[in-house]
Parts: sequence; C-alpha cells; structure tokens
Amino acid sequence: MYPLAWLETRPGTIVNPQPHLVKCPVCGSPDVTHKGKKTRTLRAHHPYQDRPVNFEIDVPIVHCSACKITRQIDLVIADPKKHYTKAFAREVVKLLMCMSVLAVSVALSLSWGTINSILKDWLEKKVSNIPLTGLRRIAIYELFIGKRIKFLTIVLDLDTGDPIFVGEGKAQAALEPFWAALGPIRASRIECVALDMGAVFTKAVTDHLKNAKIVTDHFHVVKLINMTVDNIRRREFARATKEGKIVLIGTRYLLLRNKEDLDASKGDIARLERLLELNKPIATIYILKEDLRQIWTKGSKEKAEEALKSWLTTSRESGDPAIIKPANTIEKHSVNILNFYDFMISTGMLEGINGRIRRKIG
Ligand SMILES: [Zn+2]
Repeated sequence: MYPLAWLETRPGTIVNPQPHLVKCPVCGSPDVTHKGKKTRTLRAHHPYQDRPVNFEIDVPIVHCSACKITRQIDLVIADPKKHYTKAFAREVVKLLMCMSVLAVSVALSLSWGTINSILKDWLEKKVSNIPLTGLRRIAIYELFIGKRIKFLTIVLDLDTGDPIFVGEGKAQAALEPFWAALGPIRASRIECVALDMGAVFTKAVTDHLKNAKIVTDHFHVVKLINMTVDNIRRREFARATKEGKIVLIGTRYLLLRNKEDLDASKGDIARLERLLELNKPIATIYILKEDLRQIWTKGSKEKAEEALKSWLTTSRESGDPAIIKPANTIEKHSVNILNFYDFMISTGMLEGINGRIRRKIG
C-alpha cells in the first residue's frame, strides 16, 4: 500500500503517487484532466528504523468530466486533509494502549490535538468500516484521554494488532455497539480476551463471549505492582530522617526500572543496593516486584502457579498493608493471570516498535 519510494526519502525529496491512483476521488473514473498539484506532508512509521518519518507527496488535483468537480486524488494511504497516514493513525491507537497520551505525544512528536483527532475519527468510524470476521484473540482496555471525553474503550485484534473498535466511556455501555456489530456467532468464536483487572470488562466479557477465556494482561499486573513500589517509596520518604531522605532522593527510576536495564557504569546498581540495604520496606517491595515479573517467564503453567503462590505468601508475610492490598487483588485474578500460559496473549504482543519507543522514554 505504501509508495515504496518514500523509504528513500531525504529532506526535499518528493514522492509521486502511483499512476493507477490518478482518478476521480468520487466516482473513480480515470477520465480526468490535471489541474495542478498540492504538496502534502504526511507522517508515517518508518518500517525499518522504528521511528516516525515525514515524507512529502505531490498530490495531483484533477477535474472529473463526469462529476464536474475538481479535487485532489484519493491517496488511499491517507484520508484527505490529514497530515498522517492511516497506518500511522492505527499505530497511534495501538500505542495508546500501553502509554499515556502525553508519552505518545512525546514519542511520536505529535500534538495532543492530533492524537485526540485520531481518536475522534475512530469514534466516528466505530465498527462500521471494519470487518469483524475471523476474530480469535482480542484485547479490551480503557484509555484516559483528557478532561472532555475522559475515557475511551478500545478493542484490539491481537492477531493483526489493529484497533477494531473504539467506544466512548469505560462502562459496559461503551461496548454495546461492539457486541451488536459482532453478533452471537462471531462472538462464540472468540477464544480469549486480554483484560485489565477491572470488574466492568470482566462482566461484559463473561456475558457476551461465552467461549472466551480471560487472560489478565501482564502489563496491568506489572503496572499495579509498580504503583505499589512508588507508593511505598513515597511513604518511606515522608517517614525518613534528614539523612534517610538524602538516600531516597532521585531513586524512583532505580526502583521502577527493570534490574537488567540499570546502568552499572553510572553507579546505578551500587546506589540501588545501598538504598535496599538501608530501607527494609522498600527492599521487600523491590524484590517482590522483580519476582512478580518472572511469573510470565516460567516456561510452564505449573511452575508459574507455584511461583505465584509463593509470591503471594511472601507478600502476606511482609505484614505491610500497602503490599497486602495489591497482593489480594492479584490473588483474585490469579486464575486469569495463569491463563496466559494457555493462550500466550498480552498487549505485550504488540511490542516491537512500541516497546522500543516505550523504553526510550522510560
Ligand atoms: Zn467523478
């Protein structure tokens, strides 16, 4: 679908659309006269370099003898008046699943307005243009986008990575148009759904997807434990003496980063070890956080189940209410967390480009 020439794009290089696209955008007739051109700049994902790129395209303006109108041709890869490709818009919606609107706007150098306009387009399209056939594995998640619309509910096809539905709000009602469009037969063929730990989607899925197993998304479980690390770090800071506060300052990223991503040459590991030696509650939650991440790398469901049980016991033995509360939430979802091993789905399947961008901005 992409004009391949844009891969070679250097600043100042202009791409021409393929000749077969030069036709009336309304009736599709090739019987048109050229009326000049408009240079449009489009933002797209560079498939090999994992970054957004801009390319310029000379869009012919044509007059159709049948419709008697003069317009830009339909580029197919981008909607009229948009400054990004359709594929790029899909990528933005995907990224928003695992990153905040702010993080996406930084990673892709997009304005908040553009991101909201991409989401608004999805809302308007709803499911009308998207074929819902052949769905097997999906993810449903909510996205906070700002004060005006607040929440969106997004459904992704995990096999293609494409968003297939965007609904307004985060209640069950947000999904009603999706269930209506899907219909009971296609709904019965969905095998598994990656979800967060909220009760709303769990109930909606149990009601509508009778044959689907729920897989509690790895990303949301890790997010919960990272929030716990952060809460405990803050609590300990408030309690600490003047000397203790000095050790804690600037340690947030040390604690939240994956241990293997820390930079020993910058003294990160030494600083982390000193902090863990001095503060027992922080050391406890840190070890629990690192251990919890291993639940998804155990190689078998049985081993993971054993590890999760022992993780829950250690959490309770900490006696720290700030740890026990999230541990109880995780226990409540443990069957669905372990379902991962039957289906191997998570929103992490969509990493690659997304993951690399996420790591860059931390
Ligand atoms: Zn026409």
